Amino acid sequence: MSHDPTTTGKNRVLTGDTPTGRLHLGHWVGSIEQRVKMQDDYDCFFLLANMHAYTTRADKPDDIRRDTIEIVKDWLAAGIDPSRATIVLQTEIPAIAELSWYFAMLIPFNRVMRNPTLKTEIETKGLGDKYSFGFPMYAVGQCADILAFRPEFVPVGEDQVAHIEMCREVARKFDQLYCGIDSHSEDDAYETGGGVFPIPKALVGKVGRLIGTDGKNKMSKSLGNAVFLSDTPKQVKKKINAMYPGQSRDPDQPGDPAINPVFQYADVFIKDEAFVAELRERYTKGDNLGDGHVKSHVIEAVNELLEPMRTRRAEFEGPGGDDAVIDIIRDGTARANETAEATLYAAKEAMKLGFGERHLRWK
Ligand code: ATP
Ligand code: MG
Repeated sequence: MSHDPTTTGKNRVLTGDTPTGRLHLGHWVGSIEQRVKMQDDYDCFFLLANMHAYTTRADKPDDIRRDTIEIVKDWLAAGIDPSRATIVLQTEIPAIAELSWYFAMLIPFNRVMRNPTLKTEIETKGLGDKYSFGFPMYAVGQCADILAFRPEFVPVGEDQVAHIEMCREVARKFDQLYCGIDSHSEDDAYETGGGVFPIPKALVGKVGRLIGTDGKNKMSKSLGNAVFLSDTPKQVKKKINAMYPGQSRDPDQPGDPAINPVFQYADVFIKDEAFVAELRERYTKGDNLGDGHVKSHVIEAVNELLEPMRTRRAEFEGPGGDDAVIDIIRDGTARANETAEATLYAAKEAMKLGFGERHLRWK
């Protein structure tokens, strides 16, 4: 548990999203569903990683600003409550930028470049060898995003586990180098033994990797294969109906649900498990079950999940909606800065960089 003036006695949680588009079903099952559930029992910080959006879209400032606001609307729609959780805007937390520098000195360059998540992103996003210097830097920055809040848990999708592992390594290294923690210590003993940082744990949601509507890649907001939380019933229907079921077959021919991505959606979104088992059995046998029929049940289930989100989102869609969102961002970020500054101060003290106190002020 962190020892700073902003502790509430509850364990902390930090996670977030990059404003490179709107949130989708993959975010819901990978991370957001857990966040909504954790709001009461944990001191939750949800970060808008808007600086990281510039690592691949430095030429699109308008889009990044729009997506930042839209993501908060998605959060509110999904049930995140700013009176219980703290919404944090990365670019207004200077402690994160400072910690990123210190942490960059603790991670070997090749260790960053070997990170499998970065490699996959370079490939799937077609970044080739033209990506900015800042792009791999985001993986280091993410260690600072997390550790600035000294959380116990980080609820994320599977692709993030490699990043969290790097963050854990950085936390251990820092505590060993600057706080005298023995390198053989158990992870749980780092903070209690006097380390500045806890060793945070990744918490992967009920589905670590939801496949996209292309049936190939992870559903991703920047790959054009996503069903967005803000999609209309018509858009949901159109996207799911257009999915390739992995095979071509007639309703009375046996099929293989394992190669049909629509069945992953059926498992995840249709609540009645016995019904899904029956669909699977009929599909396997070729018992007069067409792909359109399976899809129609998935569409219904997804729309049922999204309907209450649409209602909540509508409150922020009209005039004044963006301003209300910006107020929520400012409010949370002011609170978050108190926590992050306390961490930075403790880190700098440990690094023999304690030359005085500094106070931040919003205008
Ligand atoms: P981008 O395409 O810009 O990388 P993204 O769709 O991957 O966007 P992120 O903002 O990078 O979204 O990820 C936010 C969180 O959602 C992370 O914890 C990530 O692991 C999780 N997540 C993203 N996509 C999926 C998915 N398809 N299945 C499960 N979890 C996911
Ligand atoms: Mg991503």
